[in-house]
Amino acid sequence: MTDSLMATYKRLPVGFARGEGAWLWDDKGKRYLDALSGIAVCGLGHAHPAVKEALCRQAGELVHTSNLYEIPLQRRLGDRLTRLANMDRAFFANSGAEANEAAIKIARLHGHARGIDVPTIIVMENSFHGRTLATLTATGNRKVQAGFEPLAQGFVRIPFDDVESLDTVARTTPNAVAVLVEPIQGEGGVTIPAPDYLNRVRELCDRHGWLMMLDEVQTGMGRTGRLFAHQHNGILPDVMTLAKSLGNGVPIGACLARGAAAETLGPGSHGSTFGGNPLACAAALAVIDTLEEQNLTERAATLGAHLLEAFRKRLGDLDGVRDIRGRGLMIGIELDRPCASLVGAALMLGGLLINVTADNVIRLLPPLVLSDAQANELAATLSGLIKTFLQRSGNSED
Ligand SMILES: *Cc1c(COP(=O)(O)O)cnc(C)c1O
Repeated sequence: MTDSLMATYKRLPVGFARGEGAWLWDDKGKRYLDALSGIAVCGLGHAHPAVKEALCRQAGELVHTSNLYEIPLQRRLGDRLTRLANMDRAFFANSGAEANEAAIKIARLHGHARGIDVPTIIVMENSFHGRTLATLTATGNRKVQAGFEPLAQGFVRIPFDDVESLDTVARTTPNAVAVLVEPIQGEGGVTIPAPDYLNRVRELCDRHGWLMMLDEVQTGMGRTGRLFAHQHNGILPDVMTLAKSLGNGVPIGACLARGAAAETLGPGSHGSTFGGNPLACAAALAVIDTLEEQNLTERAATLGAHLLEAFRKRLGDLDGVRDIRGRGLMIGIELDRPCASLVGAALMLGGLLINVTADNVIRLLPPLVLSDAQANELAATLSGLIKTFLQRSGNSED
């Protein structure tokens, strides 16, 4: 059989026709509960009226002009985000990878400005930063890199959540200029570092003159119970990237920067045809308005705590369950065995959209608008599926 699409994705045999909040309906009218939000994208759920209204209005006025001209909505979004994040300036792109590309370019300019010829960025094992050549190099997963060599230069890798390694790298890598790290590793397995990890990274960045660059593409926009995950630590990064839920499904990414890092990019040094166009910015502004008006960040915190407790009560004592962890509505249930097959089982048997990452971690990223009843249904249905899966797959594989 020929296929007109390149074989980049292994797709599940279902397609959706419409959605509303955390519900999705397939083309046969079957209803599903979405506990993944298109991988942390539709934080406000599907077909949110505020986003719909903003998009329809903006589509009727102006979709795109060019960054050759003033774009008032882009300026408004930049003002809004920089104020919320305590940053100085914003650059808009169309995806997480592109937002990280901007961060990487800022780090290199910053290094060259300090007379460092081969500026090196410190990145983490098990990280994920995207699929462009520079970001797949920064990514700590061989599967993402394999076949695409030669990789980009100027990266050095250390273990995540390991301050000692960061201290060592300071001695062995005199040309280090920046640290690029996720506050919580998403693709890597919902890995939550020690409570003071980001504070220690901040201290070392200050001591060595490195830029602290946080990839909040997955953790940002309320997901973890604070608008940005680093706010749990009371610190400020020098550079922060956003994408995924920023436009609730409309492609937009942002690179925010502060201090000297905000002044590195100048006219002609970077750009994007689509980046920050009126349509995408209208969507992002509607997202921010809605997060604020409906207190959805606080909602993520309380609902996340409730879900964690529900899963711990139902699954905490089971043999095959290694760990149940999360912050806000970013939740991981780690099993002692590979469990990718649970994704299809949840879809077909439970009408539930979930994800499995790092082979054995069930990852939940439900929309922030999930109702209490939907949360309870998620906990009950998924716990049942996990119990059945553990029984059927027999003894643990370790
Ligand atoms: C998804 C993700 C990216 C890549 O975003 P794209 O929009 O797919 O390019 C980068 N970093 C993190 C932490 C992500 O979760």
